[in-house]
Order: sequence, then structure tokens, then C-alpha cells
Amino acid sequence: MAGLVIPGGESSVMDKLSRAFGLADPLKAAISSGMPVYGTCAGLIMIADRVLDAIAGQQSLGGLDISVRRNAFGSQLDSFETDLDIPALGAPPVHAVFIRAPIVEEAGAGVRTLASLSDGRVVAVEQGNLLGTSFHPEMTGDTRFHEYFLAKVRSA
Ligand code: GLN
Repeated sequence: MAGLVIPGGESSVMDKLSRAFGLADPLKAAISSGMPVYGTCAGLIMIADRVLDAIAGQQSLGGLDISVRRNAFGSQLDSFETDLDIPALGAPPVHAVFIRAPIVEEAGAGVRTLASLSDGRVVAVEQGNLLGTSFHPEMTGDTRFHEYFLAKVRSA
């Protein structure tokens, strides 16, 4: 597998199903061997090493040296959209859709922040071949994050 996108959804369910169907261990092995993975929203939670506000027993695949907090903005009704300046992607700003989104609360030294909200909360990161965003770039027709990820796949 050249690369994997883990989309939004519900991380606790993805976790349960990936373990029940024997997918979690092969995915962990692929991540450790350098397979590029892009996680959006629940996908970001899946590739985080540490999950805050997880449900009881919830695990992640890990790989990204971050602590991510689930549902950090509140319930579905607190979903929102905003424009983000993302230097790695250049102008114009990225219109970002947050749906019951997580935030990155803490990150290790090897993690690069790609985007933050105006209050400083981190919502996009990368570490080697792993890319993660709290928001859903597939909702807007802006393909720059997809292209950014494909460049990682190509060079891996
Ligand atoms: N709140 C969800 C979770 O914990 C993520 C929501 C989403 O992917 N849009 O997994």
C-alpha cells in the first residue's frame, strides 16, 4: 500500500472495528515502517499517540507524537467553519470545516505545526510521512492538502 487516508467519522468505532477485523496491527506495522498516512478529524485521532477524552478502552494506531483531544469544541452543534493561513500551502487561506473536531493539545519536538486557530490552538500537523488535520479538507473543493499528502506518497 503506497499510502492511506483515514477520513473523518467516529474514532472510537474505527478503533473497535479495526481491532475486531485484525486491521489495527498491520496498520500499526505499516505506519512504523514509514507508510504515508493522512488522518482527518477522526483519522487524526487514529494516528495520534495519545488520545484525551477517549471513551473507556479506546486505543489509537499511533505514530504521530501528539496528544489530541476528542470533541474539543463541544457537540455537533458547535461545529464551525473558518479560514486558516497555512504557510506550507501558500495563499489564499484554506477554508476549513470543523465537525465535532479534535485539537492537538501537545506535540513532541519532531512534530511540525502547519495550522493554528487565531487563539493558538493547533489544528494541522505533520511528522515525517504522517499528516493530520482536525478539519475536513474534502468538504470544500480545495485540493491543496490532498496534493501535499500525495507529494509525501510520491517521495516515500
Ligand atoms: N468526534 C469524532 C471522534 O471522536 C470525530 C468527528 C469527525 O471525524 N468529524 O472520532
